[in-house]
Amino acid sequence: MIDQETPDGGRVGLRVDITRAREQQAALEAARETAEAAVRAKSAFLANMSHEIRTPMNGVVGMAELLCDTPLTEEQRLFADTIRSSGEALLVIINDILDYSKIEAERLTLNPEPFDLERVIHEVAMLLQPQARAKGVDLMIDFDMFLPTRYVGDPGRLRQVLTNLVGNAVKFTALGHVLIRVVGIAAEPGAQQLHVTVEDTGIGIAAENLDLIFGEFNQVDNAANRRFEGTGLGLAITRRLVERMGGAVWVDSEPGRGSCFGFRLSLPVAEDAGGHPATVTLKRGLVVDDQYINRTILDRQLQTCGMQAVLCRSGAEALALLQGDADFDVILVDHDMPEMDGLAFVQALRGAGVVAPVLLMSSSPVTARELPGADAVQALLQTPLLRADLYRRLQDLAPGTATLPAPARRLRVLAAEDNRTNQLVFRKMVRDLDLDLVFAGNGREAVALFSSFAPDLIFMDISMPEMDGRAATQAIRALEAGAGHPGGGHVPIIALTAHTIEDDGAELLAIGMDRYLTKPLRKSAICEVLETYAPGRLLGTSQVQGNAA
Ligand code: ADP
Repeated sequence: MIDQETPDGGRVGLRVDITRAREQQAALEAARETAEAAVRAKSAFLANMSHEIRTPMNGVVGMAELLCDTPLTEEQRLFADTIRSSGEALLVIINDILDYSKIEAERLTLNPEPFDLERVIHEVAMLLQPQARAKGVDLMIDFDMFLPTRYVGDPGRLRQVLTNLVGNAVKFTALGHVLIRVVGIAAEPGAQQLHVTVEDTGIGIAAENLDLIFGEFNQVDNAANRRFEGTGLGLAITRRLVERMGGAVWVDSEPGRGSCFGFRLSLPVAEDAGGHPATVTLKRGLVVDDQYINRTILDRQLQTCGMQAVLCRSGAEALALLQGDADFDVILVDHDMPEMDGLAFVQALRGAGVVAPVLLMSSSPVTARELPGADAVQALLQTPLLRADLYRRLQDLAPGTATLPAPARRLRVLAAEDNRTNQLVFRKMVRDLDLDLVFAGNGREAVALFSSFAPDLIFMDISMPEMDGRAATQAIRALEAGAGHPGGGHVPIIALTAHTIEDDGAELLAIGMDRYLTKPLRKSAICEVLETYAPGRLLGTSQVQGNAA
């Protein structure tokens, strides 16, 4: 009802029946709620479905990987390999759908914790290195020397963003390089603005498609692109994740020349950020690498730890230089160079009587170790280099530092896993590693074995009958805190999660786990964990080679 007085003292009244409008509004309200509930239900359904599909895929991919390691005829190898790669492709799709539905259902929360950004980038590069290597594409990291490496953020989600960007860069590049670069922009009090870019020399993207690719299910559809698989969800997820972290993503690209994807983030610097880079007592290093970018990165890295670096483009150039000046404390040489490769160079070097220690940088140290010339090398470094790794190797070469003594006993590993198939997969994956491996079928057994078997490292499935991985971890941490554990100390516990919608990495770390791996397990992930938590403890796999005599 609206009543109004007119200037001449009269009264105008308006009466409107709004019952219909009210009803309509209520109906709209109800319809919106139903629609929202339906979307949430659909997303939850997708998430649950994806999870259910993942579990059996664990067996499929894991077993296929193991099958590929057995003697097979060429035809059988092709079949087994196809099962494995198809399984992995399917897993990528499932993961994307799962994540996307999590974001849609607003179930995605970030779990900030202190982490090492350089290490995360390195891990991503290591995972994608095999694909890059297979194509002859150089994968490089350039982490701003003056930037802290430890920040507070969600490392799992950042790893995902980087995996998407670097994965795409490798996928769409047939020749040249992929360069991951981290630069510090403005330092705010306690926080750091970071620019992370992933640059490739691949097929590039046409201007009219640049806006589309960050959308859902969008892929550039043209002849050059059609042979690539994918869901078109990767960049949509990437954009949403970065925005959720308060950052922004962008892309620059030119068809035929390459692309550069980047994102900007402001992250708090972790309080425990270790100050300055290690000082190395070596004085002068020779760098032999055909890649300009690598040479420059190494130059800066050596300078930062107080060394002088001399750079050479090829083995021939270095050999010529060494004839007049062989006064180097270390020679860093890339394995994969045209004309004279790193190992041929080392052989020529030794032939010429140069005795300086050599560090060989290789994208595949395991293969390189078996090749002729490898015994004349002091250590093999996995590329892209992790600075800490490089400094450690350099420091190992300093006079007076002995190489690691051989461990006296085998590493004891406890794996708590109730599922038989998963146990089998795990056992087979570590069978080359010369471990003492014991399984627990549930959390209770794991706690008992913790006391009786005294493992050096524990892999702990989260969902197990009787006592789950969380409760078992808490029990073990309580034992460690009390006097119950003979050795005292802290045994690393690696959670094995099934990547469900409920899995919460931060919570797992908070209850005392050191790290979590998502199933299906990969041999490379297990090895990486062993290398991290028990460095140099794997018998027969030590990377330190005998001295060149
Ligand atoms: P997917 O890779 O699963 O198809 P994305 O959302 O990650 O989905 O990428 C969407 C599309 O963007 C890709 O299909 C491709 O056409 C294009 N694209 C992404 N990264 C690159 C790159 N580095 N070089 C060329 N094209 C790219």
